[in-house]
Amino acid sequence: MPIYEYRCGTCKKVSSFLLLRATEEIEPYCKDCGSKDVTRILSGVSVIKDGEKRIERLLDPSRFSGLDEGDPGSIEKTIKKLGRELGDEIGEG
Ligand SMILES: [Zn+2]
Repeated sequence: MPIYEYRCGTCKKVSSFLLLRATEEIEPYCKDCGSKDVTRILSGVSVIKDGEKRIERLLDPSRFSGLDEGDPGSIEKTIKKLGRELGDEIGEG
């Protein structure tokens, strides 16, 4: 279910609009001050939240226990591994 976020140009607050259908059209406005001077923020909130959790998990320090910061090859290998895991997840969505 898509959630669109709009930042108000007047008060800078962010308003979220939940769309029941992807094709549904909305007239965004600031829920705080009522201004229609709002700018769409690219979010895809539900997806990003999942992704953040995954990144947190992926960045768990215990996963880097074998990482030698003085060894670029080791870092590269770890980053590639993370990228692959993230890529797999993103590819599904
Ligand atoms: Zn506002």
